[in-house]
Amino acid sequence: MGSNFMYSTRDHKFIIKEWLSCEKIFDTDRFRDFYSLDDVDEVLDQSLKVCSEVVAPTNDDGDKIMAVLEDGKVIVPPSFKKAFDYVMENGWGASNKDKNAEDAMPGILYGAVHEYMIAANPAFTPYVGLGGGVGNIIKEFGSQEEIDFFTPKLFQGIWGGTMCITEPGGGSDVGDMLSKAYPTDDPNVYKISGTKCFITGGDHDLTENIIHLVLARIEGATRGTKGLSLFIVPKIWINEDGSLGEPNDVNVVSIEDKMGLKGSATAVLNFGEEGNCRGFLLGNPPDENGVGEGIAQMFRMINGSRIDTGHCALSVATVAYNNAVAYAKERLQGRPITNPRGERVPIIQHEDIRRMLLTQKATLDAMRAMIFKGYYYLDIMNFADDQEEVRKAKRFIELITPLIKAYCSDQAWLMITEAIQVHGGYGYTEEYPIARQARDVKIYSIWEGTNFIQSLDL
Ligand SMILES: Cc1cc2nc3c(=O)[nH]c(=O)nc-3n(C[C@H](O)[C@H](O)[C@H](O)COP(=O)(O)OP(=O)(O)OC[C@H]3O[C@@H](n4cnc5c(N)ncnc54)[C@H](O)[C@@H]3O)c2cc1C
Repeated sequence: MGSNFMYSTRDHKFIIKEWLSCEKIFDTDRFRDFYSLDDVDEVLDQSLKVCSEVVAPTNDDGDKIMAVLEDGKVIVPPSFKKAFDYVMENGWGASNKDKNAEDAMPGILYGAVHEYMIAANPAFTPYVGLGGGVGNIIKEFGSQEEIDFFTPKLFQGIWGGTMCITEPGGGSDVGDMLSKAYPTDDPNVYKISGTKCFITGGDHDLTENIIHLVLARIEGATRGTKGLSLFIVPKIWINEDGSLGEPNDVNVVSIEDKMGLKGSATAVLNFGEEGNCRGFLLGNPPDENGVGEGIAQMFRMINGSRIDTGHCALSVATVAYNNAVAYAKERLQGRPITNPRGERVPIIQHEDIRRMLLTQKATLDAMRAMIFKGYYYLDIMNFADDQEEVRKAKRFIELITPLIKAYCSDQAWLMITEAIQVHGGYGYTEEYPIARQARDVKIYSIWEGTNFIQSLDL
């Protein structure tokens, strides 16, 4: 049996319209003229329909056709391209990450939309989100010229994006990375050289170009993470008039054969094999002590991605739970403990099955509450006028971000093991979607820094 997308808007409507005082967000200068609480039902219903009809049907292709490497290029399942274009063109994609875009939704509302999309196909969604994430970093730290040059196409989904941090010898210990950057005659342009591994969306055929954000050390900068700088490295060089130029010497060495998320290409990339890879330095060169700005800049993206990672874990575990409930209602097995001679009953009537389902339900609800409180405070932090409220929201976000990432990804894995248990032996087969959900969900406790490593930041 293939994947089985079962989802509901009920929890999000309750959270946004009843539990949190979201009128505060909808009533900010930023959103007052574009969205109101009255729009919530329609946006959620419509987005769930899109995810169910357009995105979910691509999920099995991700697992079966997978992302593959052919002649040095990554090809994703053809159905991904159709869904990607639909999502981007109809305002459900990266444009919502642009804080200044008129039609961008409040983060808390887009959070719900995003949850349905991840649940519909968790291997597809990173392609949708990464371009916007890169766009925001360029917007925050780039020059006006760089902002104008790169961000419109990133937010429109015409170009994709990546975060290039990890290297074979520099995983958890980012400061041990070996990638280097060398000055050129143009003070803003550097030659880049190095190998990055495990790069999500490192190559694909969904967009005409990919903008890599690459951490590297400029010659002479200090050791460790402090000496790192961040570079905008296009896969294909972009001419001054905005047209695409020559390939920028970024080569795909291989893609990983993973246990899950098989439609999401995880690439090993070589930058500057032939000495011709160029990148734009974001912000300033290292100071007189050799201290660069790169790690702080990259952490802005990592922190956003950590909330997103916890949310991905919740989405996949929720689909698993919904499937477990449906299975438990259908599967006839055994008699009630209180009536051993009675008729066979659906397993949902057995106490232990109810215990497992209720454990999942309670844990997933708690995770969703935690995540949406995070989105709520992010919106306050980004858009409220009252500076005292903004300050408080910022402190809350600093505290809750690693908790969302670690708690939700650890719990999601445990909750899916309960969902497998509800399925009995069938849960251990690939005939039912639950095994696949376990394979998909495990990554979330590992990427964006393993849960232990990021607990060191607290
Ligand atoms: C599918 C996938 C997608 C990814 N996407 C990206 C991406 O887009 N961009 C990117 O840059 N990276 C990406 N990564 C890389 C990911 O962030 C790293 O795999 C992760 O940070 C761990 O690094 P590592 O694999 O080198 O493990 P290691 O650093 O070797 O860690 C192995 C184990 O040792 C533990 N450990 C390490 N150091 C310590 C310590 N000092 N104290 C205690 N325990 C320690 C870790 O917690 C872990 O349990 C991706 C990885 C995968 C699998």
